Amino acid sequence: MFRPTISSLRGARPTLAARLRGRLQCPTASRSYASASGPAFDWQDPLVSKDLLTEDEIAISETAERYCQEQLLPRVLEAYRDEHYDPNILLEMGELGLLGANLTGYGCAGASTVASGLITRAVERVDSGYRSGMSVQSSLVMGGIHEFGSAEQKDKFLPLMAQGKLLGAFGLTEPNHGSDPGSMETTARPHPNKKGYLLLSGSKTWITNSPIADVLLVWARLQSSGKIRGFLVERKDCPPGTLDTPPIKDKNGLRASTTGMIQLDDCPVPEAHMFPEVEGLRGPFSCLNSARFGIALGTMGALEDCIARARTYALERRQFKDNPIAKYQLVQKKLSDAVTDAAYGTLAAIQVGRLKDAGKVAPEMISMVKRQNCDRALVNARVLQEIFGGNAVSDEYGIGRHVANLFVTQTYEGQSDIHSLILGRAITGIQAFA
Ligand SMILES: Cc1cc2nc3c(=O)[nH]c(=O)nc-3n(C[C@H](O)[C@H](O)[C@H](O)COP(=O)(O)OP(=O)(O)OC[C@H]3O[C@@H](n4cnc5c(N)ncnc54)[C@H](O)[C@@H]3O)c2cc1C
Repeated sequence: MFRPTISSLRGARPTLAARLRGRLQCPTASRSYASASGPAFDWQDPLVSKDLLTEDEIAISETAERYCQEQLLPRVLEAYRDEHYDPNILLEMGELGLLGANLTGYGCAGASTVASGLITRAVERVDSGYRSGMSVQSSLVMGGIHEFGSAEQKDKFLPLMAQGKLLGAFGLTEPNHGSDPGSMETTARPHPNKKGYLLLSGSKTWITNSPIADVLLVWARLQSSGKIRGFLVERKDCPPGTLDTPPIKDKNGLRASTTGMIQLDDCPVPEAHMFPEVEGLRGPFSCLNSARFGIALGTMGALEDCIARARTYALERRQFKDNPIAKYQLVQKKLSDAVTDAAYGTLAAIQVGRLKDAGKVAPEMISMVKRQNCDRALVNARVLQEIFGGNAVSDEYGIGRHVANLFVTQTYEGQSDIHSLILGRAITGIQAFA
């Protein structure tokens, strides 16, 4: 049998050195690193993630992008300055079918997980605060009710929430328990003289939408079993003095969203408003997984906006011999790093979305894309900010707003270091939380 020897192969094919020599002798190859022909590089979608999307997903993404650029972008600067969130935004999103878009029935669009992520990307391209308000409504509250609610709870809340006519908040974090919600102190005890009712007492803090929410999904420890359960607290039914949701003002991030506390003082809630089966942290963590996926694609929208703004600025701003600063290598490296991270993060999130719809997603995969995309979006936004020089300090350039917002996205729904511990546990089999 003929076996090719190394030397016969050498004879048949030029060596690596010869091939390199050939290339180096070619004048065009030595001067230009861009391909002369073939597909052009698109800095806005360098790895052509659009090819991975269905027609429906592209259509949903375009609808969301149009709404966000035409309706949200013109409002955001004033909203951020005034620390004001307009609840009509959720009504508008409801009219377009953007709320709970990946849920089925109850007036929801029944779109794919990736489509819901493309919506969060479009909204967060404008502002992470707007995306936060929507994510709480769509993923944390509607998603929770859809997955764990009774038939009556779903019928009662989901259709109105899908239209944005009923606003939701998700109360997990407490003043003394943020990264460790399993130690929560909020309790639900039987009402001493009203059958079929429980009394909720405790305090939640840093709760998006709480000051404006009609229904608050509160996680509390059921006194009888010691287990964490989910409760749908309707503001209109709470007697005076039993529910207070004061806003937390003077934030230095996420100012275009509203954040507050939830203070419950023997607040009566019908037992029928408790999620019937889910117990322990599985309930809140499942809701969080869905929202964390949305954050993973959402932060790519914020990063892409930073890139677009920084690129435009770099092409227009001239320094030293009237050169645009985009001509300088250090500036180009900043843009290259950011564009690469946005492209990688987008592809990874789309893959995780596909796995989720196929029932193949592990929570650690979501930790991975949430952590990586938030971290990279924050680091790159901060570096791109330098391109604006002193103008970065003016809010009219938009970059400082993204940087401040992206700090929050890295912090909430599991701070990045907590996701590192989740991944570390999966990698080593050893849990390092305590
Ligand atoms: C604007 C905004 C909106 C929010 N919206 C909501 C909402 O709608 N609903 C809700 O329930 N919550 C919400 N949160 C709360 C958010 O989820 C918490 O802030 C977050 O979980 C972190 O908790 P903490 O602030 O108590 O920080 P801590 O838990 O006190 O953590 C502080 C630091 O210590 C680190 N750390 C903690 N434990 C460990 C450990 N074992 N090992 C290593 N490092 C550790 C953390 O990584 C972090 O860097 C929101 C927060 C903000 C800022």
